[in-house]
Amino acid sequence: MNKLAIHGGKPVRSRRLNYGRQTIDEDDIAAVVATLRSDFLTTGPKVSEFEEAFANHTQSDHAVAVANGTAALHTAMNALGIQEGDEVIVPTLTFAATANCVLYQRGKPVLVDVSPETLTICPQAVQNAITPHTKAIIAMDYAGQPCDYDRLQQIANEHQLALIADACHSLGATYKGRRVGNLADLTVFSFHPVKPMTTGEGGMITTHRPELADRMRRFRNHGISVDHREREENGSWLYEIADLGYNYRLTDIQCALGISQLNKLPHWTQKRQSIAQTYNSALSAIHEITPLKLAPKRTHAYHLYVIRIDFSALSASKPPFFQALQAEGIGANVHYIPVHLHPLYGENFNLGLGLCPHAERAYEEMISLPIFPAMTSQDTQDTLDALEKVIKFYRH
Ligand SMILES: *Cc1c(COP(=O)(O)O)cnc(C)c1O
Repeated sequence: MNKLAIHGGKPVRSRRLNYGRQTIDEDDIAAVVATLRSDFLTTGPKVSEFEEAFANHTQSDHAVAVANGTAALHTAMNALGIQEGDEVIVPTLTFAATANCVLYQRGKPVLVDVSPETLTICPQAVQNAITPHTKAIIAMDYAGQPCDYDRLQQIANEHQLALIADACHSLGATYKGRRVGNLADLTVFSFHPVKPMTTGEGGMITTHRPELADRMRRFRNHGISVDHREREENGSWLYEIADLGYNYRLTDIQCALGISQLNKLPHWTQKRQSIAQTYNSALSAIHEITPLKLAPKRTHAYHLYVIRIDFSALSASKPPFFQALQAEGIGANVHYIPVHLHPLYGENFNLGLGLCPHAERAYEEMISLPIFPAMTSQDTQDTLDALEKVIKFYRH
């Protein structure tokens, strides 16, 4: 029997494979260097160039670049005028920032359950959570799969709510032939290195509503109505603080990288889809493992490749299983601990186990396997070999 690395055996890999990683090519480096040599490091021409390219790519009318995905969510909440007393419906199976952004505006995040097969926000749970205080719904395209936008838009229309898409996982995916970025009132993206494309840190919000785009441009620049370059061009020192804003700007250096990365995104999405296909077919032979389902009429951007493991069929629970996989050199991860189980939310809003049974069950069972465009077929094979080795050992 093949001894597990955690028990002193030889690991499948000596060099750890992370669950996600950026791709930086020579043309990306050249784009950044050219901007470093230019007149503008920030608030310059690369910002609107990136915004236009991004709006074009996502088939949206306006794109507003900000410092990171979390700032993008905050900017979106501010643009919609979320304030104290307002409720915003958020899926519990998401990154902290999706819920925190509501708190930034002193609103109340109302955490709801996900659909068991896709782990995206459950439309029925959204419907059940609506009160006279509800102002908006944040849908999060878990792992890179678009939510049920037809159903969510219908609910939003019926109750006059704003629909926000947290598309930090799903840039590059489509829903009924429409691109992510064009499926909600506001769509939020992140360019953190593990995300579909990167600017180091960075974020974007797309919208078809010009008044929201204007408001967001002010918000990212201290609430000032005219930016520093416009003032210079007009030969005027005049500016107005219209409302409270922040410095959430994205630099020209980062935008130059973003423009360069965006060109390669379609190719990278295909690479991710092809790795997912390899995983899907190999894992269908392991009956204790179930990959997430892809719902009809959408394409998946595979920011994450998530599997569920039937630990009742194994002699190990998730923590030792996860440790064993790590010891084999596979940097698996877990996305996410449901938000309602974190102290900030559990204690302040009196939430806990039992609130969202599908998310809680998924959390017990799921692991994210490595997936990123630069993965080699050997990397994919190592992951599968390690998974098989560990499963075999713990099989009853
Ligand atoms: C990454 C991520 C964010 C936050 O993005 P940052 O750029 O890291 O601030 C928000 N929501 C989701 C779902 C994410 O995955």
